[in-house]
Amino acid sequence: MRCRACNSGPLSDVELSRKDHKTGEHLDLCNTCYTISNRAIIAQEYESLYLDEGQLDDLEFELFN
Ligand SMILES: [Zn+2]
Repeated sequence: MRCRACNSGPLSDVELSRKDHKTGEHLDLCNTCYTISNRAIIAQEYESLYLDEGQLDDLEFELFN
C-alpha cells in the first residue's frame, strides 16, 4: 500500500492504521501527508486566529493525539 496523496511507500503499520476521525475510513496517507492534511484542517477550524508554527504543533497535539 502506498500513500494516496504522494504515492510514497510502502506505508508502515502505523500509517496504514490511521483512520479519518469523522468517517472511520482508512486514510492511507504517509506521515508527511497526514501532518499536512491535519494542518489544513486546523487552519480551517482556527481560521480567525493567527497561529505560528509552535501554536500549530500544540493544537495538533491536542486534537489528534
Ligand atoms: Zn504522502
